[in-house]
Amino acid sequence: MPATLRSLPLPSPKAYAELGDALARLLPPDRVITDPLRLLAYGTDASMYRLVPKIVAKADSEAEVQGILALCRQYKAPITFRAAGTSLAGQALSDSVLLVLGEHWSRVAVAPDGSTIRLQPGVIGSHANVCLAPWSRKIGPDPASIATARMGGIAANNASGMCCGTHENSYQTIDSMRILLADGTLLDTGDPDSRKAFAASHGELLARLDGLALGLKANGPLAEKVRSKFRLKNTTGYSLNALVDYDDPIDILLHLLIGSEGTLAFISELTFRTVVDLPRKASMMVVFPDMVEACRAIPILKRCKVAAVEMLDQPAMRSVENMPGMPACIIGTPEGAAALLIETRAADGATLEVQMAEVIGALGQTRTLSALEFSTDPVVTANYWKARSGVFPAVAGARPVGTTVIIEDVAFKIEDLAAGVADLQRLFEQFHYKDGCIYGHALDGNMHFVIYHDFSDPGEVERYRAFLDAVCEMVVKKYDGSLKAEHGTGRNMAPYVELEWGATAYQLMVEIKDLLDPEALLNPGVVLNPDPTVHLKNFKPMPAADPLVDACMECGFCEPLCPTNGWTLTPRMRIAGLREITRLRKTGGDPERAEALRRRYAYDGTRTCAACGLCSTSCPMGINTGKMIKHLRADRWHALGQGVGRWAGRHYGGLLALSGPGLAVVGAARAVVGDKAFTALARTARRLSFGLVPKVTSNLPTQVTYRPKNSITPGRKVVYLPSCATRSMGPAGSDPVRASVPEVFQRLLEKSGFQVIYPEDMGGLCCGQPWDTQGLKETADAKAAELEAALFKASEGGKLPIVSDTSTCTSRMKEFMNGRLVLIDLVEFLHDEVLPKLPVRNREGTIMLHLNCGARKMGLQPKLVAIAKACADKVIEPEGMTCCGFSGMWGFTTPELNEYATRNLAAQVPAGCHDGYSTNRTCEIGLADQAGIPYRSIVHLVAKATGA
Ligand SMILES: Cc1cc2nc3c(=O)[nH]c(=O)nc-3n(C[C@H](O)[C@H](O)[C@H](O)COP(=O)(O)OP(=O)(O)OC[C@H]3O[C@@H](n4cnc5c(N)ncnc54)[C@H](O)[C@@H]3O)c2cc1C
Ligand code: SF4
Ligand code: SF4
Repeated sequence: MPATLRSLPLPSPKAYAELGDALARLLPPDRVITDPLRLLAYGTDASMYRLVPKIVAKADSEAEVQGILALCRQYKAPITFRAAGTSLAGQALSDSVLLVLGEHWSRVAVAPDGSTIRLQPGVIGSHANVCLAPWSRKIGPDPASIATARMGGIAANNASGMCCGTHENSYQTIDSMRILLADGTLLDTGDPDSRKAFAASHGELLARLDGLALGLKANGPLAEKVRSKFRLKNTTGYSLNALVDYDDPIDILLHLLIGSEGTLAFISELTFRTVVDLPRKASMMVVFPDMVEACRAIPILKRCKVAAVEMLDQPAMRSVENMPGMPACIIGTPEGAAALLIETRAADGATLEVQMAEVIGALGQTRTLSALEFSTDPVVTANYWKARSGVFPAVAGARPVGTTVIIEDVAFKIEDLAAGVADLQRLFEQFHYKDGCIYGHALDGNMHFVIYHDFSDPGEVERYRAFLDAVCEMVVKKYDGSLKAEHGTGRNMAPYVELEWGATAYQLMVEIKDLLDPEALLNPGVVLNPDPTVHLKNFKPMPAADPLVDACMECGFCEPLCPTNGWTLTPRMRIAGLREITRLRKTGGDPERAEALRRRYAYDGTRTCAACGLCSTSCPMGINTGKMIKHLRADRWHALGQGVGRWAGRHYGGLLALSGPGLAVVGAARAVVGDKAFTALARTARRLSFGLVPKVTSNLPTQVTYRPKNSITPGRKVVYLPSCATRSMGPAGSDPVRASVPEVFQRLLEKSGFQVIYPEDMGGLCCGQPWDTQGLKETADAKAAELEAALFKASEGGKLPIVSDTSTCTSRMKEFMNGRLVLIDLVEFLHDEVLPKLPVRNREGTIMLHLNCGARKMGLQPKLVAIAKACADKVIEPEGMTCCGFSGMWGFTTPELNEYATRNLAAQVPAGCHDGYSTNRTCEIGLADQAGIPYRSIVHLVAKATGA
């Protein structure tokens, strides 16, 4: 009897309630999520679909996954595995149980010669490459999402990118895998004993798999079709090539799991063969008069040593031409033109020269609109790649509010590429997708097209259906291309798998699914789906919620940097949550649910955001979710709160002056009762007051007694702005270093030949950050304007440079002043002006370094690391630390945010390391609390190392 696709009804609400209870007995309660806000939040991936899970379970080990699978089998509840949730075709979603990888799936082991790498499925792809860098090697798969996507998702989608083609993808480079089958059995394909045990326990499964492979191999035309289709990039349906490429059924199973999208088994470990990462690179952007000519260049380039060839059609070039730094050749190109971005890589400069000359010579036979010229200048080449990677966010950012951006992913044979692209452009016209852009990996004939669509209108859904039908007909029937080259089938292309593969191959896929998942529990409806309209259901609503975030496409690229990732919400989740709350408010739907979402959002969304803005640094569109949260905080303030904020702004100098004696009183109290007793007392007071009494710790700063005065020695003039934090917060009581930042920094500046000038009446000056974090924008900006005026005067009308000693304040003032004054952060100044003049005499041993969000947002990490490395033998940048979560004064009232963000810090402080450094006084309080060693400003390190 041939197998059929099974789609079972979901269990009853009562069964889910029991399953939830059982899961809460299996896992720590905080790893079983059932509240409506986080269910909705985790129900969001990067696709245009949304399913809301009934339960989210976070697993941290194979044993836990086995336990969860057993319970799902018992309650007949379908389960979907989630890595980073950047999938685009709806394969990382569930309306049942969503199993999310907890944070303990990030182990990496590189073979001594770098030839293989063993990875847990939660490792972020780019981190694997960081681990391989010392061997000049990398993993093969290279999706554009590699800085966010995790290895489990990369392998399960057979994701690929600009360079890996079909020869270095997961399928080609996988060496072995630990696999948990739906029945809970563990198979380690790299362990002979495990293979033997599996053959004994699952002999029938392996025999049936062997039978399917033998059947396919015996069917000459079908076997040839499979081989031919996988010469192109192809992620439509299962990796049937496993059945023709391998004979041992365990090897077949291993390769079938690549691209299986969580529908056949759970991947708990992967070992990849690594590939060479050639260090010398050159890129060229060249424009052709039309697509036909650009495509004529591709087979020519295939014969040269090129690592990547990316194509942009004319609308794609137009979408990015106004971005800063764009290459002149792609600006104002004529209708119909096409560009190729070509990269060649080599082990050394001489070889690179030869390769560049070879490419230029070969392309001499084509007609081009721009010069054939390679660049090795990193700034120039970065702009070429910025043009290429900017297309998707440019279209997404410019789309009308409320619409969804869609990126499709087809592949043509190279000889069909020009005609295929022309047909796609014709279909854009026919179906009125006037802003559609096409770009992609030309060497593989893999083209992405980006369109946007309003799915809230049923008529529009029909237009999308008709368009997608026409695209699929064209790609498959006219060109025998791939409908999904690298993004996976998901729910989006599931109805078209049979169209692409034909009935026999499709039935083979159904047999594979039935064999490995007989109870149809693993991600049902993904890859294969009996519903021909599944791709038109469960579209994600995208209502306008806040202009600051309306362009968000929910890609998830912002998640890894967010300090609350894995605890409350991520930036993407904060946006998805706000969108749903807004939608319910606008439609008046489900008031009870709306209230539950709002109540939880007040803490998970609003209260626990550090407002650090780090999310903006990895968002393709620069969206700063922290700004949106500050908006929401502003709404919370009623007139009285706003008034108090304004009053505090006006009397800030007096308040700061009072804070000094306040700190002195607290310090005296600590001295009387002792450090431990004082901390315990403060903790009790905070607990008894339900959090109203702020956190007090032994790292509370002491009073600053230093009174800044302009230099009396002549030198190059520089205006020095000590922040209100460094002016009022001295070293921690327990820190053996007793000098304040302004005292040390002024000394450093003078020793390196500068004449320090302070702004007048500094007492109440502030960049406004404390008000900004609270959402009191009006007062925050008034304070910033007041500071700008004082700096303008002190800098002789903007002629003198101004150096700030606190990166967060520099970052805010740079944004506020928008280039009107020359403001320099202490990191830049120490690196560029001070260290070159003062030789390092006493290097420290091992130090901890914190790269705070202000420095990161200004791109100053390399300089900060360079300063630290110049002054210390060993610099530890703790893994997994982004923002410390202290967030100015927030750390005193919501200390749990800092505690979560720094939860892995103490374990990374090595024995013998007694000092930590950063560039923000308030961050240093929270860091010292969690690390158990003093943290202080990097100026102290430079002063000590240079003897200043
Ligand atoms: C802006 C943008 C650009 C992108 N660019 C590319 C690109 O260039 N190339 C490309 O190929 N893709 C690209 N993608 C798609 C996506 O990022 C990749 O496919 C990525 O590899 C998915 O990884 P993930 O960690 O997000 O997996 P998820 O989305 O979480 O999961 C992917 C699939 O794997 C399954 N899965 C997850 N973990 C496991 C496990 N442990 N065991 C078994 N199954 C599991 C899931 O159920 C799901 O079906 C892009 C996405 C975005 C948003
Ligand atoms: S904020 Fe930016 S990075 Fe985050 S999900 Fe939205 S578009 Fe993606
Ligand atoms: S501002 Fe910081 S804490 Fe808030 S969402 Fe962005 S990254 Fe997360």
